[in-house]
Amino acid sequence: MPAEVTYPELRDAVAKLCAKYPGEYWRKLDQDRAYPTDFVDELTKAGWLSVLIPEEFGGSGLPLSAAAAVLEEMQAAGCNGGACHAQMYTMGTLLRHGSDEQKAEVLPKIARGELRLQAFGVTEPTSGTDTGAIKTTAVRDGDHFIINGQKIWTSRAEHSDLMVLLARTTPLQEGMKKTAGLSVILVDMREAIGNGLTIKPIRTMMNHATTEVFFDDLKVPVSNLIGEEGKGMKYILSGMNAERILIAAECVGDAKWFIKKATDYAKDRTVFDRPIGQNQGVQFPIAKAYTNMRAAELMVKEALKLYEAGENPGEEANMAKMLAADASFEAANMCIQTHGGFGFAEEYDIERKFRETRLYQTAPISTNLIFSYLAEHVLGLPRSY
Ligand SMILES: Cc1cc2nc3c(=O)[nH]c(=O)nc-3n(C[C@H](O)[C@H](O)[C@H](O)COP(=O)(O)OP(=O)(O)OC[C@H]3O[C@@H](n4cnc5c(N)ncnc54)[C@H](O)[C@@H]3O)c2cc1C
Repeated sequence: MPAEVTYPELRDAVAKLCAKYPGEYWRKLDQDRAYPTDFVDELTKAGWLSVLIPEEFGGSGLPLSAAAAVLEEMQAAGCNGGACHAQMYTMGTLLRHGSDEQKAEVLPKIARGELRLQAFGVTEPTSGTDTGAIKTTAVRDGDHFIINGQKIWTSRAEHSDLMVLLARTTPLQEGMKKTAGLSVILVDMREAIGNGLTIKPIRTMMNHATTEVFFDDLKVPVSNLIGEEGKGMKYILSGMNAERILIAAECVGDAKWFIKKATDYAKDRTVFDRPIGQNQGVQFPIAKAYTNMRAAELMVKEALKLYEAGENPGEEANMAKMLAADASFEAANMCIQTHGGFGFAEEYDIERKFRETRLYQTAPISTNLIFSYLAEHVLGLPRSY
């Protein structure tokens, strides 16, 4: 295993907490498509979800690699960080671009577990990945914005008090850049539900608490605008490296879980009077999955190193996310194959984790868009869209 493990004590503590939430716990939630409230509450109380909040606001003020270690451990323990990972990076938008008053009001409450900020409303049904084409509008009316439109895939909206929303505040006119005129607004969903905000859950192939959100003349105070009006796209982009690196760390954790599960089983399962793991046809896919995982882990480390040095590691964050998502999905496939028929049985948790880790080929950014970023911004190939 890697010689240098970051944050060993933190990892140990997170792993101990996760051990209280074994496969049975996640299986039951998966069947009911229910939210892991106990798990998230315990993580919050232990302070693991606020490691990135600065100490002056009640968090532990640790660097991104600590958050990556928390999420990797959760996944490696078989848990599903998708229920709460966004709290870690969504609050970054507020931290970097919010006013002093907004930060003083919200961040200590998040750190104490009194407020949840884990809904991020960017994607819309008609715009898809083309964020500049979003249609949700926020129109000023005195001290308020009046918000109308729709978001899709707004995960955890039913389990969050606040939402970071991207909306168009200046109508698109000819000659204007598509990504201009967008603003980030903090929506207090506790007041908004039933007063212009409706949330509809979407049932998906895995348990992810994702939703559609409808805005119908929702009034939000202008004081909830984060940063400057019209600069929202820049603010959203500024958080994407952190998001990608953290999701990559989760995928590395998933890959570790699949590799351990497959290795243990291959040593134990006897067919033709020998452990299946004695056959190279079974060993090699496990060894390959391990190699892929280690390569992805190195890229995550590289991205973290650059991020923490204050650089803008778009290239490494994107590559880390892609390599790690591929490593976890390939490890998932290998793990099912190693288990033969049992890989499909719910009680082994493999099919559940397989479904969960599949998401990261598509969200928060799909692989094609990563290739497109690398082709255009790193390799200097002509712009395609
Ligand atoms: C479970 C889940 C949770 C999510 N949570 C959130 C959330 O909390 N908040 C949020 O805002 N969003 C969320 N998303 C949205 C997610 O980020 C998007 O689904 C993702 O970015 C892809 O966008 P799309 O679904 O609109 O696909 P589209 O943009 O419609 O793309 C469809 C396919 O076409 C490809 N494609 C599109 N354009 C091009 C091109 N120019 N070149 C090559 N290929 C192209 C894409 O790569 C993709 O494979 C979530 C999605 C899911 C499924």
